[in-house]
Amino acid sequence: MTDTTPAFPTGTILGYPRIGRRRELKKAVEAFWAGSTTADELEATAAELRAATRERLAGLGLGRDDASIPESFSFYDQVLDAAVAVGAVPSRFADLASADGSIDLAGYFTIARGEGERAPLEMTKWFDSNYHYLVPEIGPETEFRLASDRIVREFEEAAAAGFVTRPVLVGPVTFLLLSKPSDEAPEGFRPLSRLADLVPVYRELLARLAEAGAPWVQLDEPALVSESIDEPREAVLAAVRQAYDALGAASARPAIFVAAPYGSLDDALPALASTPVEAISLDLVRGTVPSGLDAGTATSLLTKTLVGGVIDGHNIWRGDLDAAFGRLTELLSLSPNLAVSTSTSLLHVPHDIEDEPELDARLRSWLAFADQKVGQVATLAHGLTDGHEAIEEQLRAAREALADRAGAPGVRVPSVREREAALTEADYRRGDYSARLQAQEEALHLPFLPTTTIGSFPQTGDIRRARAQLAKGLISEAEYLGRMRDEIKRVVDLQEELGIDVVVHGEPERNDMVQYFAENLDGFAVTKNGWVQSYGSRCTRPSILWGDVSRPKPITVDWSTYAQSLTEKPVKGMLTGPVTILAWSFVRDDQPLAETARQVALALRDEIADLEAAGIRVVQVDEPALRELLPLKKAAQDDYLDWSVGSFRLSTAGVRDETQIHTHLCYSEFGVVIDAIRNLDADVTSIEAARSRMEVVHDIQRSGFEHGIGPGVYDIHSPRVPSVAEVTELLETALDAIPGRQLWVNPDCGLKTRGYDETVASLRNIVEATRSIREKAAATV
Ligand code: GLN
Ligand code: ZN
Repeated sequence: MTDTTPAFPTGTILGYPRIGRRRELKKAVEAFWAGSTTADELEATAAELRAATRERLAGLGLGRDDASIPESFSFYDQVLDAAVAVGAVPSRFADLASADGSIDLAGYFTIARGEGERAPLEMTKWFDSNYHYLVPEIGPETEFRLASDRIVREFEEAAAAGFVTRPVLVGPVTFLLLSKPSDEAPEGFRPLSRLADLVPVYRELLARLAEAGAPWVQLDEPALVSESIDEPREAVLAAVRQAYDALGAASARPAIFVAAPYGSLDDALPALASTPVEAISLDLVRGTVPSGLDAGTATSLLTKTLVGGVIDGHNIWRGDLDAAFGRLTELLSLSPNLAVSTSTSLLHVPHDIEDEPELDARLRSWLAFADQKVGQVATLAHGLTDGHEAIEEQLRAAREALADRAGAPGVRVPSVREREAALTEADYRRGDYSARLQAQEEALHLPFLPTTTIGSFPQTGDIRRARAQLAKGLISEAEYLGRMRDEIKRVVDLQEELGIDVVVHGEPERNDMVQYFAENLDGFAVTKNGWVQSYGSRCTRPSILWGDVSRPKPITVDWSTYAQSLTEKPVKGMLTGPVTILAWSFVRDDQPLAETARQVALALRDEIADLEAAGIRVVQVDEPALRELLPLKKAAQDDYLDWSVGSFRLSTAGVRDETQIHTHLCYSEFGVVIDAIRNLDADVTSIEAARSRMEVVHDIQRSGFEHGIGPGVYDIHSPRVPSVAEVTELLETALDAIPGRQLWVNPDCGLKTRGYDETVASLRNIVEATRSIREKAAATV
């Protein structure tokens, strides 16, 4: 570092939850959408939240005036923020921008959420987290320019309150790597090809920040750690050098901190090291301290600050603080300038464990939510400055909590362990598919092109109210049960009336497809205020999987058998699969995921056995998250697919030939996971397909998939009712590619977010379209 480089703070975090301790931002944003507040009122609430966050972080031990507090607020999404800041607005939204390119809050939300015929930006998963970002659309026509100074104003707002904070924004390389070609872009266009045009806008923004007095800026470049990026690695590394050489060469700029969460930088570290950036973060939770660096890189790193991401930003465990401190000091071999940080933004964890007074006190002592993690960072920073001895007491407390956790009842349950140890190959295998097919035909007598739904029916106000009343003790358990049964009867009668072939009970009793099982399995705990942003104003409350998992008693059997008692048609039992339960929970970090997945699988296997014994002939095990957990590093993918598919098979392979196993996946890119899907060995797989007009059937055809397949014919993300003609056309497209005997007819996904009117109309059209195709088929044989 040169003499003029400001010191990097010894302790920092890469980002902080922005939704608010009591989801204040969610409420404020939704009130604005509903038209009950003005943009100014929303801005004022957001400013209050940012002010509270700064005060909170300072109170927890981050410095007020040393750039250690990140300015990481967003009204909706940080990638959208970057797009709006650099003027990258798709042409269909061009009218929202004023002459200088700027877009007001209402326009910003329109891009995020769409409006009438104008589709919003596509939404997709942020690396291997549960957060979803909006995908920018970039083409040759995109005119980059500095179109928003929001980030500068937020820095100034902090300064006015006596803070010197650190502005955070998505870096230019990641921004383009996460973008997709715009509608106008020619075939084969690569957004990364616009880097040279984009970088000057970042330069201008950095100049503005420097002018406002920002000593440091944080540019997030998580795309550098991912191997699932559709761009040759050489091109990515060249882009890193090009962007950061250019940004570094600017005379008026803050010092640049490049953050690289979600994995190791690998060959991107030498690339970054060769540029003038002043600080680089390393995710030391996912990755390890780099070794074997070439001499040039080693020399460059000596002049930079290395920010060790040793506190897990992605999970809620208090963890091993000794090990974290150890990893940090290992970094000293690479640079004398060290700082401590979280591995990722704390966006992925709830605010504060103190907000969970009802959680078991012992469990609580093993946990660290965002605020506790900030405290851990402050502790380690203290240790870096004043030596190990200065933090001995905190290290000991963390050590004791870890030891307590290792030995606590429920964490390792001998019966669960013994059962798992006794598993053999045969437990993962069902009989031959053709024998199953025949047995199922005889047992179920389904027509050509059987119709079904994915499980949930609309969650009405009445259903939600009943659940809330039960939770508050306002109605009795018996009253609640009665209301849910009434709802199930309504849903079953409706399906009978519509003529659906495989009936569901509608899942009214489930608040959430993972939490419902977490509440009913041993080894899980649920939180009250543990909200985490999923996308925009949407939050989820992941359960905590802390111990060995087992099933104290049947969970869904009463609901499913009640539904079956109302109809002659087969009722489909409905479970959430092991991978999805893991993906949408906070999972224990003291054993491999594969082991935890097997425990969950065995609990589900028991549930399926009980469903079968109670007369349920079809069971669906949903795995919408199968694709989501796929590791970012190629080397880890085979192992993942092996255990994830294995856990699904373990949960389902205990049934008789005549019991039909369905699975449901919430996406249509079969590509990478097609072999995995085949290996699930489900009898029937339903997937999303309506939005992409059945494109996926060609992948299915090419892959030689032979089991039952239900590509969705109804886009449940939209209130639109598909017409009979539309569904007929979709089905005909599917039939061109896939043999009719394999094809099932169903919506894209569950119906819980839809209203009844549109649901009934859509299902009616689906059944009618199916009937007309059946008649045509009957006439031609
Ligand atoms: N069975 C679930 C439902 O219908 C599946 C939801 C999902 O895959 N996300 O709601
Ligand atoms: Zn789905």
